[in-house]
Amino acid sequence: MVSRLLDSVDAIKGIGEESAALLRDMGIRTVGDLLEYFPYRYDDFKLRDLAEVKHDERVTVEGKVHSEPSLAYFGKNRSRLTVRLLVGNYLISAVFFNRPFYKKQLNINDIITVSGKWDKHRQTVSVQEVTFGPHKSNQDLEPVYSVKGNMTVKNMRKFVNLALKGYLDEIKDNLPERILEEYKLVSRREALRTIHLPLDHAELKKARRRFVYEEFLLFQLKMQALRKIQREQSKGIEHAFQENRLVGFMESLPFPLTNAQVRVVREIMEDMKSPFRMNRLLQGDVGSGKTVVASISMYAAILSGYQAALMVPTEILAEQHAESLTNLFEGSGVNVALLTGSVKGKRRRELIARLKDGEIHILVGTHALIQDDVNFSRLGLVITDEQHRFGVEQRRVLREKGENPDVLFMTATPIPRTLAITVFGEMDVSVIDELPAGRKKIETYWVKHEMLDRILQFIEKEVRLGRQAYVICPLIEESDKLDVQNALDVHAILHHHFQGKMQVGLMHGRLSSEEKDHVMREFSENTVQVLVSTTVVEVGVNVPNATLMVIYDADRFGLSQLHQLRGRVGRGSDQSYCILMADPKSETGKERMKIMTETNDGFAVSEKDLELRGPGDFFGRKQSGLPEFKVADMVHDYRALETARNDAAKLVHSRAFWEEEQYGPLRNYLEKTGVLVGEKLD
Ligand code: ADP
Ligand code: MG
Repeated sequence: MVSRLLDSVDAIKGIGEESAALLRDMGIRTVGDLLEYFPYRYDDFKLRDLAEVKHDERVTVEGKVHSEPSLAYFGKNRSRLTVRLLVGNYLISAVFFNRPFYKKQLNINDIITVSGKWDKHRQTVSVQEVTFGPHKSNQDLEPVYSVKGNMTVKNMRKFVNLALKGYLDEIKDNLPERILEEYKLVSRREALRTIHLPLDHAELKKARRRFVYEEFLLFQLKMQALRKIQREQSKGIEHAFQENRLVGFMESLPFPLTNAQVRVVREIMEDMKSPFRMNRLLQGDVGSGKTVVASISMYAAILSGYQAALMVPTEILAEQHAESLTNLFEGSGVNVALLTGSVKGKRRRELIARLKDGEIHILVGTHALIQDDVNFSRLGLVITDEQHRFGVEQRRVLREKGENPDVLFMTATPIPRTLAITVFGEMDVSVIDELPAGRKKIETYWVKHEMLDRILQFIEKEVRLGRQAYVICPLIEESDKLDVQNALDVHAILHHHFQGKMQVGLMHGRLSSEEKDHVMREFSENTVQVLVSTTVVEVGVNVPNATLMVIYDADRFGLSQLHQLRGRVGRGSDQSYCILMADPKSETGKERMKIMTETNDGFAVSEKDLELRGPGDFFGRKQSGLPEFKVADMVHDYRALETARNDAAKLVHSRAFWEEEQYGPLRNYLEKTGVLVGEKLD
């Protein structure tokens, strides 16, 4: 039987053709749509003692009319109607603007209820709403709906009420009894009624709590089902290797792994040994030791007879990785090769042949790796660093160079857990949340721009000690729209200022990649001591001798980005410094600078960033992967999000979920969203 909730709204008595059209313009077609159209806030009409109400607060009072109303006109069509009201022991005034017709309705000794703004000094309420009669105490909270066109909030209330009256019995629960009991959630029917007509705040809270869980659970069910289907449909490689050889390799490293590294390695090994294809995101702050984890994983693939590929966004990074991997694997018989755009001609041909023969075990490179003629003998593991820099297509092409190789995405951008499990919900996530022991905290200072002279002295001092500095600017060149420093000007100024004392380099996104690599090389070889740059330098670059980072107009950058930039220093054994130049005007702006000076923990920074900016802006651009929730808030309701995520994961892996009647509505939901037909992500 088709649910009556699918009836068109004009099936409701009291909603005519015209209103139905207005509702349609708001995206409301069926009775179900109308009931699912939630208020975005509530007006509070609870009676309060006037002594407790602050100036300019909204208040509702019930009182007895104590004087004849007096009406005054000013200007054309504008009027003020004033009446004295006795409210408890207070004698106050109630003022009605442009409502002259109320004069006749207000008689001495009548009881009326008025709501509006309270002017404490004048002891006056400017009335926004009036009820001629005593306060109806069963309805303190009035829903406020966002409306479009000629629709009014009043009519919306009326229509929703009609829908509730006629259709409440039609509302079935989509959550099974078991879950409702476990979390003490109210039924969907009750929650819907309450969200539109709450008796009080306590009741409203219960209804919201139910919808928060429901929204998160449905969303996570979708993600978890996708994840399960992807795993099952993509048969991967069951890597088999001698564990003692892997352990031997780990023990041969020049340092003990951190606990976090050990945990993450274990998670990755489980995936690699399983018959499913690994699809894992590895997050870890800059310097947390992701590269080491990557090399252990690659070694496991090699021990099981496969090859591994590591793709990074820039040539300079590729070279750095190739070099450190070569060192790590020295004497182990593992062959590491580098393939970038600069590898050409005979060298390239030879490399490609050796790769095809399986003689090369690890290939490190830029997107040069995904060229057509680059073929592996047996590619078993693909790792991408700073994965968000690569397009989906590039990652797919690389993956398809093997037969269902395991895939590991590494990123140094700490993503708050709440976002990680929503945006990357269909992936497994590993986190390295601990830095190797003995790291020095990067001392971070926040200064005003007028301190420039002191900063220049500081740069000079560090350079004289043999160290290097980055100077970051928000823009490449001058802009008439923004009053911020640009890299070209700052480069000219510093070049002039330090003439004869040191070399100042310039780096920005409009240089060709050869030019960029050239400048980076000069900086890493210390022929250039100070590098003026835009944020292009933010990704993974490793120059351990750089100990100072100066950031112009630091308030222009997101917190996570500042942290990422700061991570370019503090990579060697010397004490490093980060100087944020900013004159923020707003309180949040100041708070953001303070956070940077107080913590070096990337996850703490990113959580704070999320809190201050909200999920929509976290990634610095509109992120399409972010779901929209009506009631739930990813930041404030994160506990519920985690609970729902765990529940969803358990459900989709349970037999009961796919078979039992009680989960029918949830399965229907998955079917409707297209998940069950195996929609493909990535
Ligand atoms: P990431 O790629 O996460 O930024 P890396 O893997 O490049 O970090 O590691 C940063 C530095 O820390 C490297 O010099 C690496 O050798 C070193 N390192 C990694 N793990 C450890 C550890 N457990 N103990 C000490 N040093 C480590
Ligand atoms: Mg790295």
